[in-house]
Amino acid sequence: MAEAIPAGHAMKNRSYDKAFLIDMDGVITKGMSLIPGSKEFVDRLKKGNHKFLFLTNNSYYTPQMLNRNLSNLGIDVGDDHFYTSAMAVSSFLLYQKPGCSAYVIGGRGLLEELEKANITVTEKKPDYVIVGETSEYDYKRIVEATHLIQEGARFIATNPDITGPTERGPVPACGALVAPIEKVTGVSPYFLGKPNPAMMYWARKKLGVHSASCFMIGDRMDTDIIGGIESGMTTCLVLSGVTSNKIALRFPYQPDYIFQNVGEIDPDAILPRRDRVE
Ligand SMILES: [Mg+2]
Repeated sequence: MAEAIPAGHAMKNRSYDKAFLIDMDGVITKGMSLIPGSKEFVDRLKKGNHKFLFLTNNSYYTPQMLNRNLSNLGIDVGDDHFYTSAMAVSSFLLYQKPGCSAYVIGGRGLLEELEKANITVTEKKPDYVIVGETSEYDYKRIVEATHLIQEGARFIATNPDITGPTERGPVPACGALVAPIEKVTGVSPYFLGKPNPAMMYWARKKLGVHSASCFMIGDRMDTDIIGGIESGMTTCLVLSGVTSNKIALRFPYQPDYIFQNVGEIDPDAILPRRDRVE
C-alpha cells in the first residue's frame, strides 16, 4: 500500500545505487500522451543519477524508435534507456546457445537485436523458430514455422500479450500471433517477455544492479508486479493504467507500494523492501 516515508528516513539508507525498471504503457504514456507526473518523475531520476530502464514487451520497436516516440512527447532519455522483449530474447540466446540460428517472424526491433547478437536468420534447419510483433504476418510464414517446429526447431516468442493498444482498440500482439502455430504443432513457445522474471534479470544485468536495490514500477499485477516479485525486486503498482485499487487487492500477491501515478514517486527517498521498517 502507498505509505508515507518518514522524514529523514532516507538518511538511514545503506550505501547503494538504486535502480528502476519502468513499464511504459499505463505508467509513462497512455496512447499518444504522457501520464501526468511522468516527466517530473523522469527528471528526478536523471537529477539523482539513478539508473533506470524503460521496459516494454512490444518487440516491434527498436530503442531508437521508442526513444523518438517518447522524445516527441517531451521526455528525453537516450536510446540506452530502453529494454524490450526482443532484447530479452537475444540475451537469452547469447546465454543459452551463442552462434545459433533462427527462423524469424518478427519486426525490425527483433531482427536488429538478433543481428547484434550474431544470430543467423535462416530457413535451413534453424535451431529456433522465433515469433514477435510484426506487420508482415502471412500464411506462408506460418506454414514454414509449423514445419520447422515439427522438424525439431525449438519455439520461442518475445511476449505473451494477446493484444496491443491502438487508437481504434485492441489489435493482435505476439501472444495471438503464435496461436495458429501452437495449435497445429501442439508446441507452446517459451515467452521471454514479462511476466517472465528472466526479462527483468537480463534488464538488471544491463544496468549492473542487484535485485535488492532495484524497483519494478508497472500498472499490471499479472505481468509487472508478479515478475518483479518473482525476481526479488521491490514492486510499485501505479493506478494510472489498467489496474484499480480494488482489482489489485484481489491478487494473492501484493506490491510493496501503490501510487496513483509515477509523479508520486520520489526516487531519492523511496526505500527498498529490505530497508523498510514495518
Ligand atoms: Mg503497462
